[in-house]
Order: sequence, then C-alpha cells, then structure tokens
Amino acid sequence: MSDSLKETLYKIKELKIDFLRLQFVDVLGIPKNVEIPVKRAEVALYEGVGFDGSSIEGFVRIEESDMKLFPDVSTFMVLPWEEERKVARMICDVKKPNGELFEGCPRTNLKRCLEKLSERGWALKVGTEAEFFILRYSEGKIVTSDKGGYFDLLPLDTEEGLRRDMVIALEKLGLNIEAAHHEVGHSQHEIDFEYGDALSIADNIITLKIAVKTLALRRGYVATFMPKPFFGVAGSGMHTHISLFEGEKNLFYDPQSPDGLSKIARGFIAGLLQHARAYTAITNPLVNSYKRLVPGYEAPVYIAWAEKNRSPLVRVPPQRGKGTRAELRNPDPACNPYLAFSVILAAGMDGVDRELDPGKPLNNVNLYQVSDKEREEWGIDFLPSSLEEALRFLEEDEVIKNALTPHILDYYLRAKREEWKEYKNTVHPWEIERYLELY
Ligand code: GLN
Ligand code: MG
Ligand code: MG
Ligand code: MG
Repeated sequence: MSDSLKETLYKIKELKIDFLRLQFVDVLGIPKNVEIPVKRAEVALYEGVGFDGSSIEGFVRIEESDMKLFPDVSTFMVLPWEEERKVARMICDVKKPNGELFEGCPRTNLKRCLEKLSERGWALKVGTEAEFFILRYSEGKIVTSDKGGYFDLLPLDTEEGLRRDMVIALEKLGLNIEAAHHEVGHSQHEIDFEYGDALSIADNIITLKIAVKTLALRRGYVATFMPKPFFGVAGSGMHTHISLFEGEKNLFYDPQSPDGLSKIARGFIAGLLQHARAYTAITNPLVNSYKRLVPGYEAPVYIAWAEKNRSPLVRVPPQRGKGTRAELRNPDPACNPYLAFSVILAAGMDGVDRELDPGKPLNNVNLYQVSDKEREEWGIDFLPSSLEEALRFLEEDEVIKNALTPHILDYYLRAKREEWKEYKNTVHPWEIERYLELY
C-alpha cells in the first residue's frame, strides 16, 4: 500500500469527509466530476472509478467508452463552501480500461510535455492573472452589477464582500492569493495567486473558476470568464507570466547581459512570437475570444515584444533575478489551461532550441497608434482576427500540433470548426438591428 494513498485515507477519516468529488476536465477545459460517498474511498483510490468516456467532450467513442479516474492524492482539498456535508475534491488522471494513461486527457498531455522538459533538468514556472465579470440577471437579461473601474472601492465596487469571500475560499483550497481588485470594466474583477509549477497552476486555474462561479451563484450572481461579454468594454484576459527554472535558478536571468535577459529568455520570447498565430487557436479558444483581441482595451493585437509597454503580445516586466519572466498577454480565461501551457511551452522551446532572437524590444511605442505602413516596415504581424483564421494557422504549425496528442488535436480541430460554422451561419442580433428595417 503506497504511503500517500494510506495517508489520504487516514486524512479522509480524520476530517470526517462525507463525499469525495473526483474531478477532471474535458478537452475544452470544462470541469467535470463524479461524487462518491466516503465508504467507496478505498476502492476509488486503489482501483479507480469507472465512467462513461463517450459522454465527455473529446474523449472516446461509444464502443470503447469504459474509462477510469485515478485521483492524484496530492490535490486533496476540502471544499470550503460545503457547510452541511463535508466534501473533499481530488483532481484525477484519466486511464483506459487497460490501465494505460488516456491520450485524450488534457492534464496527462501537459504532464507529458513537462516530463520532456524535465529530461533537461528544467521546469516551466507560470503565473496567471485571470479576469472575470460578476453579473446578474435582470428581467431575463444579463446585466452588470456595479459601476466600478480599475482599483475602485465602495460605493463603486459593490461586490467587494463577495470577492473577499472568494479569496478566503481559494486560500482554503491551497491557493496563495497575492492580490484581488476591481478591474477596468463595470463588474469586472481579478484575483491573482502565486506563481508555481505549470501543472499545479493549471489545476489552480480550474479551482479558481469553480470557486468563483460557485460563490457567485450562491449569492444570485453569474460569474463569467467569457473573454468579451460586452462590446465597447474591456474584455477578460489571462495574462500568463512565464519562466524556466533549473532547480532554484531562473534560466531567463543573466546578470552579465545589458538587459538582464539570458539567451534562453530571448530564444523563448522569439519562439512565442514565431508561433503566436498557431497557439492562439488554443490560448484563445472561442469565437468570442477574437472580439477581445482588438485595439484599445489593453489586449494584444500585434505580434511584438516590449519591456515598458502593454500593447504588444509579449511584455517583459522589470523584475530581474528570480522574478525574471515574460508576460504573454493574449491568453484568455476560457482556454483549457493544460493545453494552453502545453502549446506555449512548445512555442518557446522551439525558439530556445533553434537559438532564435526576438530582435529589439518595441519600447515606448503604443502599437495601437502606429500606422499600418510603419508596422509593415518593422515586420510586425497581426494575431489572427477570428477563430477560423487561428485554426488555419494551427493546422500549418507542426511544432504547436506536436504539443498535443493526435487524439486531442483531431477532436479540437473538429469541434472548433463546427463551433465556427454554427456561428458563421447564425443570424445575429446585430444583423437584425442593422439590416432588417433598412433593407
Ligand atoms: N483586460 C485586459 C485584457 O483583456 C487587461 C487589463 C489589465 O490587466 N491591465 O487583457
Ligand atoms: Mg493584473
Ligand atoms: Mg488585469
Ligand atoms: Mg498583466
């Protein structure tokens, strides 16, 4: 009997847990779970819990649908908002009936990418800033619930109490919260937690989404991580801060170089720029994601990097030493974080391995205000302007495609094309408003 399994069973008993929630995500990053009464705990930990994989987005066909969940006991956490019954969750790896890891499981996909990196003795560290809106229904319509802006407080930030409850719950769930604040848009918020290893940060993003949505719902609100809920208002991003470590050493830092950035950092940034159009299909997964990637709302549009400036795709914050990092600004919180980190890593490592150089940073240039001619002269490309365009770039990029298992890639391309087609063929309210009476 493995020690950690034994310890977990002991903890379950000690804490008088009533239910165990076995959690995972589908290929689109939507959290799923099955709950078992505590008497089934031992069986679940040792033999796994079976489920019908054919009912999960991107998993398997009906003929081969008996899948199993194996809890990762290091993710054991008691859900702080369940007061009447004690419920603990564990994040699971998905296995096939023959006991092999399932190639459609996004968490396993990321684990494999990180294992490959660890063969060099390196680790990917990530920090994210997920933004979201806290909305409510009024007369059947979804509306903002406050008139606050960036860093506002009461009387504008009316949901500060709710946001504080979210922070407390997240702390209990093991996230070390660094800051929480009102964001630029009415009813828009941000809760930031400490950076760490890519796998635990991806787990934490899912935990954050579940906690934020659950607590909002319990107070009659709807929290959304949809990237651009309102036209003409800031969208919700998930800026992703990236560095590579070898043990305690940040490989992005080089005290000898004039800007403090190592060759590895420069290579990684160059890779991020070179593959941007392809991985955007994963980091910005919705039709709606591309409505955020427009000028004027602190979201990137142009493929460039800078140190002092928030308009390009990659920003290098001023911290050096252990805090040296690149901030990738296009991801949005609708992405599947396991897949997003897999493709971001592949893009950067390609730049490192090919010793690419990102050129000079575009400091002191507001790219939103630069003319098309200048941008062309500087060789600055655009991010894709639609999901459809991004999918085409993804299909052409072997490096990014190779960061995903063929199973995940196939399903993703199919599902996203279908999503695009449905959107394209739908008649939207904008068209009715604009055309119906005029023509
Ligand atoms: N909301 C912006 C985005 O879409 C970011 C704003 C900020 O955090 N400064 O990326
Ligand atoms: Mg922030
Ligand atoms: Mg922000
Ligand atoms: Mg940021």
